[in-house]
Amino acid sequence: MSVHVLVLGGTAEARRLAADLAARPGVRVTTSLAGRVARPAALPGEVRTGGFGGPDGLADWLRTHRVDALVDATHPFAGTITANAARAARATGVPAVVLRRPGWRPGPGDRWHDVPSLAGAAEVLPGLGRRVFLSTGRLGLAAFAHLSGLHFVVRSVEPPEPPLPPDIRVILARGPFTAAGERELLRAHRIDVLVTKDSGGEATAAKLTAARDLGLPVVVVRRPPLPEGVAAVPDVAGVLRRLGFGEPAPPGAP
Ligand code: NAP
Repeated sequence: MSVHVLVLGGTAEARRLAADLAARPGVRVTTSLAGRVARPAALPGEVRTGGFGGPDGLADWLRTHRVDALVDATHPFAGTITANAARAARATGVPAVVLRRPGWRPGPGDRWHDVPSLAGAAEVLPGLGRRVFLSTGRLGLAAFAHLSGLHFVVRSVEPPEPPLPPDIRVILARGPFTAAGERELLRAHRIDVLVTKDSGGEATAAKLTAARDLGLPVVVVRRPPLPEGVAAVPDVAGVLRRLGFGEPAPPGAP
């Protein structure tokens, strides 16, 4: 009899976890994607796409598809699905694990300004510079739409959605990025200040190194808190241990 694991995905960690689980005999893994990215890269195991219809819909899905374990490996800023997953796990009794990569921490030479939200970032920006590199993703840019005196360079995987700031240049690109490339980009666009979410991880951290090298201030939007009573593990190995699967399979293992 196989064990069915539902992974709420949309992150590199979710992909790594699905690959590890799919390679294990007796494990069936389904990754759930919200459907925000038009052409997501192929994933090991099964894939389902689209919202569940809130916590009750997710609870129904867990029951109907006989899920034995739920892993919330969504992005640290995907707060609604994380709250829904916690509620659905409680309602069904399905064991659940939250996978959250650690947040970024400033080092010597960093000039970071912590804010609680994109709106908070918009408030502090005019005091920090006129040319802004915004790498907060394609959603939520409405928070900056009223800042007509600033020039924005926005980088996102897919085109951002209006309303947008009036003076904007969009760069479509997907990480990982290098520190040298990021320095070049910041110089080429004569950037005064960066705005980032505290996504954590290596893939998009190079911009922070580049900002430090160039002495630029960084506005860091801090993560929404985890739901009450929910504790997270920081990596795939932690999830596997919590699920009772032992250590990750070594690279290249069948
Ligand atoms: P969110 O605000 O927490 O979720 C909004 C709604 O989208 C949820 O209520 C749920 O709909 C649906 N949803 C979200 N993740 C889902 C998943 N993995 N499978 C099925 N339905 C899902 O999430 P978000 O910030 O819009 O992010 C959407 C997805 O993009 C997440 O899976 C996340 O991992 C990924 N992502 C987000 C960011 C970010 O900065 N927020 C960055 C990179 C990747 P129902 O209530 O109908 O179930």
